[in-house]
Amino acid sequence: MLRLIDRLREPMNLLLLAAAMVSGVLLGEMIDAVAIGAIVAVNTAIGLIQEGRANRALATLEQLSVPEATVVRDGVTRRIPTRELVPGDVVRISAGDRIPADGRLLVADALEVDESLLTGEAVPVQKSPSAHDRTTPREPEALDRVSWGTHATRGSGVAEVTGTGTDTMLGRIATSLDVAPRPTPLQIELARLSTRLGTAAVVIAAVVFAITLVRVGVSTEGLERSFLSAVALAVAAVPEGLPTVTLVALAAGVRRMALHQAIVRRLTAVETLGSATVIVTDKTGTITQNRMTVTSVWALGTGTVTPTELDPGLATVARRIAALVNDATLDPPTGDPMELALLRFAGTDVTADVYRQWPRLSTFPVDSERMRMSTVHEVDAGVAVFVKGAPETLLRRCVAGIEPDGTARSLTDDERADVLDSSRELASHGMRVLGLAQRTDRTMPRDADEAERDLTFVALIGLEDPVRPDAATTLAAAGAAGMRVLMATGDHPDTAMAIAADVGLDTSVPPVTGGQIAEFGLPDDPLATFVYARIEPQQKLDLVKALQERGEVVAMTGDGVNDAPALRRADIGVALGERGSDVAREAADMVVTNDDLATIVTATREGRGIYDNIRKVVDYLVAGNLSEIVVVVGALLFLPGLGVPLLPLQLLWVNLLTDGLPALALGVDRNDDGLMARQPRPRSDHLLGRRRLGHLTVRGGIMGGACLGTLAVSISLQGLEPDRARTMLLTTLVVLHLLYAFVARQPASASLRDRFAPAGWLGTPWLVVAVVAGVTLHLLVVVWEPAQLVFHTTALGAYDWLLIAAGAGVGLLAVAVHRRLGGGTGVVRGRS
Ligand code: ADP
Ligand code: MG
Repeated sequence: MLRLIDRLREPMNLLLLAAAMVSGVLLGEMIDAVAIGAIVAVNTAIGLIQEGRANRALATLEQLSVPEATVVRDGVTRRIPTRELVPGDVVRISAGDRIPADGRLLVADALEVDESLLTGEAVPVQKSPSAHDRTTPREPEALDRVSWGTHATRGSGVAEVTGTGTDTMLGRIATSLDVAPRPTPLQIELARLSTRLGTAAVVIAAVVFAITLVRVGVSTEGLERSFLSAVALAVAAVPEGLPTVTLVALAAGVRRMALHQAIVRRLTAVETLGSATVIVTDKTGTITQNRMTVTSVWALGTGTVTPTELDPGLATVARRIAALVNDATLDPPTGDPMELALLRFAGTDVTADVYRQWPRLSTFPVDSERMRMSTVHEVDAGVAVFVKGAPETLLRRCVAGIEPDGTARSLTDDERADVLDSSRELASHGMRVLGLAQRTDRTMPRDADEAERDLTFVALIGLEDPVRPDAATTLAAAGAAGMRVLMATGDHPDTAMAIAADVGLDTSVPPVTGGQIAEFGLPDDPLATFVYARIEPQQKLDLVKALQERGEVVAMTGDGVNDAPALRRADIGVALGERGSDVAREAADMVVTNDDLATIVTATREGRGIYDNIRKVVDYLVAGNLSEIVVVVGALLFLPGLGVPLLPLQLLWVNLLTDGLPALALGVDRNDDGLMARQPRPRSDHLLGRRRLGHLTVRGGIMGGACLGTLAVSISLQGLEPDRARTMLLTTLVVLHLLYAFVARQPASASLRDRFAPAGWLGTPWLVVAVVAGVTLHLLVVVWEPAQLVFHTTALGAYDWLLIAAGAGVGLLAVAVHRRLGGGTGVVRGRS
């Protein structure tokens, strides 16, 4: 009901209702008044249907991205939607999570929380449940409390929920602010377009008002008639359905994307997706399957062996570290696939005992700088530190190595070189390589730096992660669509290059490493390199910026907490849903739930399709409405005998038939098959740039001209009878505008042959139905007597129909040819 009132309050409808009153009360033409009222009603109904569709689609979208929390209820750990949490629930929190509710910490393991949302303080706060931290319980910084909406950046913890929803710190702040969603650039562009057209319509209407007044004569009746004509023209000229149809087109596309596992979080992303020129993707999970298995182990003196061939003494030590420096669980399998692989390597028979014998005291989680993770465990004489991490950085912290029988001794330089060579050898087969190391101490280390020193090197672990079967095809498809794919991974360059070769990326160019970037900066042409390895999140951000400075439109994938800035900066930030953190998800424009690169490429296709459809709608509405203006103004100027060229009600009728359903059908039109054979749409391509507006004006002119020409021929053959002349003009206009829908939807890139293939012409059944229904309804108005009375139309003879067919045919052919000859929207851009 509210929506109904909102709709009726729109200026167009107010204007129309005023016009109805004028006709009814002042002119005494009750039929007109009722008819106008009916048109307002139908128009409003169509608008409501469109809006309803758009809103429903948007509502389903919101449901797709409900936040979830990990809760422990009755001893069972489950994922549930955050809104189902109640005070008293026990939730698990780990690095990257958004805190799902306000809570009191029960357990914390190196937990750090970014509370900048509440405090403005950018440095993450260390949290722990211990009592002495509670000396100054100032909210929200209280150190044993966590707040809804803030983010865990490190470590993990368990908290008891104390408040949810509006009964939280953030909830109270949020309810005191009323945050309205910001319009997308597309919406802004459309709004600008509407105002521009509206202004033009008012100016033209004023001119028409003046001319009509001169023609009809300055009398009360003349004044009223001119006023009605002007109002009707203004209504006809403004494509009032444009914003809603656009929303429907966006929402329909977004829903299609969701079926392909791509959840759009910001509608803006859809518009941008179609113009992406570079995809910066990581390797693990997007190009590979992220299903890791330990296939090789290397140790001093034994060389590379399979896990089963490993010396028993060494195997025990390696398995122990693999099991202990690990946050995953096997039953049920949860956690990082790499850690799961390490647990399987450790063997289930080992793990239970190991956990009991070596209770964990604290954790130093992995971060992108250290590329190591270590845990501290209780032993009789003090503590044991176990470490796993990238071999190069780990080795620098090792002073000793372990013999196959388990005894430790100091490392020679040759042996160090041997470790690194072997690590590279494993990596060159596409494996991820991890080093394992250990140490014992009498006292508890205070930080990671203190823990990870004077280590004893134990072994190298080679993990295989098979490439996704369709990765090569996906990369080829992206290339054909004019998108460059860059791999930016935290892994070793040799691993990255081996995988790159596997999927057909150009490996003649050496990889650029994070170390090189730190030393020499990014390469001058970031696009000349395909593989960026051992790269840090901060460097990903720099890469995105550098690419953007070169005019590229960048889509970037990310999963970690540190990826958030780059995701936000990228034109399309893509969070990986399967293993991505909440932080990454919230920074992203799109979440790809299956982590597959193919999904991202498919999404760009959808993006292009959606933009195409919106462009078709704009084309159809703007050129068509311009033709109506041309007809009215042209007839006023060149056919003075006609008086008012089209009666107000007739103009409204044209508007009703042509603007509503066909535009809606075009908005959800079939995608052009050649979509991914095109180059990306350049940034400069606006929905209504000056050039395009020029083209559309020409097409409006051609169509309007065709209608006027038809009329002129008819008058010269059969003389001027106003009602019949108007009927002819009206019919030609309606038929031509409706059929123009098929021209407007022609793919810009299609070859001449494709363009005349029947499927290419007709689009979806919806469009055909909308056009056929429009033409049929109009014919009814022309031949059915009661309708003739209302619309002042007359029956037409065979000659008239022939003339209309010829006129509309010539006009249609002319606009089709114009579109073909550069009036199209062909976007072809080569990459040098
Ligand atoms: P990717 O870009 O392929 O996702 P990551 O950034 O996840 O790579 O990892 C980069 C490197 O950090 C790995 O090659 C590995 O050496 C190290 N690393 C990653 N996760 C862990 C972990 N849980 N424990 C120890 N080291 C890790
Ligand atoms: Mg990763």
